Amino acid sequence: MPLLVMKFGGTSVATLDRIRRAAKRVGVEVAKGHDVIVIVSAMSGETNKLVGLVDETSPLYDAREYDAVVSSGENVTAGLMALTLQEMDIPARSWQGWQVPVRTTSAHAAARIEEIPPGNIMAKFGEGMKVAVVAGFQGVSPEGRITTLGRGGSDTTAVAFAAAFDAIRCDIYTDVDGVYTTDPRICEKARKLDRIAFEEMLELASLGAKVLQTRSVELAMRYKVRLRVLSSFEEQSDEAGTLVCDEEDIMESNVVAGVAYSRDEAKMTLVSVADRPGIASAIFMPLAEAGVNVDMIVQNISEEGRTDMTFSCPTNQVARAEKAMEAAKSSGDINYHDVIADQNVAKVSVVGIGMRSHTGVAAKMFQVLANEGINIKVITTSEIKISVLIDRKYMELAVQALHDAFELEKAG
Ligand code: ASP
Ligand code: MG
Repeated sequence: MPLLVMKFGGTSVATLDRIRRAAKRVGVEVAKGHDVIVIVSAMSGETNKLVGLVDETSPLYDAREYDAVVSSGENVTAGLMALTLQEMDIPARSWQGWQVPVRTTSAHAAARIEEIPPGNIMAKFGEGMKVAVVAGFQGVSPEGRITTLGRGGSDTTAVAFAAAFDAIRCDIYTDVDGVYTTDPRICEKARKLDRIAFEEMLELASLGAKVLQTRSVELAMRYKVRLRVLSSFEEQSDEAGTLVCDEEDIMESNVVAGVAYSRDEAKMTLVSVADRPGIASAIFMPLAEAGVNVDMIVQNISEEGRTDMTFSCPTNQVARAEKAMEAAKSSGDINYHDVIADQNVAKVSVVGIGMRSHTGVAAKMFQVLANEGINIKVITTSEIKISVLIDRKYMELAVQALHDAFELEKAG
């Protein structure tokens, strides 16, 4: 039997009505002759509520108990979904992570899936079960404790099951009807993509397009799981949504696939640090140890043996970064005149695998921004991405202008 994985996010199971709707979709696939593994999230808002309860009970909580509490939302939807399917005369049962078992590391609240032995579930399919409903987001550690995979982790559960069971596809039902060239809320010309390559999706996901958990895309790319993102609120068809797939499965595409942005950026500059071997490590080691997530880095040309070092990090880590730098200064490891934090910046990026074979994308991007009078503060590039840091007040303008200039409203 061809096996399909279908994942329903929190908004798709938010009420009993929506669970019924989702179950009908599952029924359609069963009728086509598929065995189905359904992965469910908690009803929308439920996980936030559970996290709040833990925070209120114990500010410095034991992560094992945090996981025991926050994983419970998915248990409820898994049971309700199985019951709904049974009401429709579809043989179904629910599985919690430990029952499968979904074996994970012991990194509570951020566990990684290590192994999903398919034996237990396959045996039930052999006995006539048509649908296995699995609680997403959770697993079991080697110590036998319940773990969770980090927020948004049900996407990763779904992809991991698709890989472990060699599914023909993994359909992710969510509240948007696919992956867009950019955020339709800030650019009305944004277009839904029919297909996008894993690597592009990975860049877009990590750049702040919150459609899929980044880890799930990494996993899909590694195991070549065809992922389809589609809305559970619209009519189903085989062309619905966006297929995230291998670049070989995409015939024609634009050089630039999408424009991503992130508001949550800060730029920090250490003014006048001694330019000597080891200075970068003396700065970035303590930042790493303090848990600061450094993204872009620029070192200026030095004058008279001194230079400026600039980096970006999430806005809520600025205080931590400042503290780490002050500590490094007072211990004599580094020496600088001043540290300047600019919290009014945003990152805008263009992404596309076409950049590997096309030149001039960066030049065009910079020209577009220049024409709009937008000053670029920091630039970084990778093989398939160019990112700039700009004043946050120009972010929407930059996204719209780039979307126009690269003609993303037209299919490639
Ligand atoms: N319920 C979890 C969360 O809200 C996991 C998920 O829905 O993917 O993060
Ligand atoms: Mg999600």
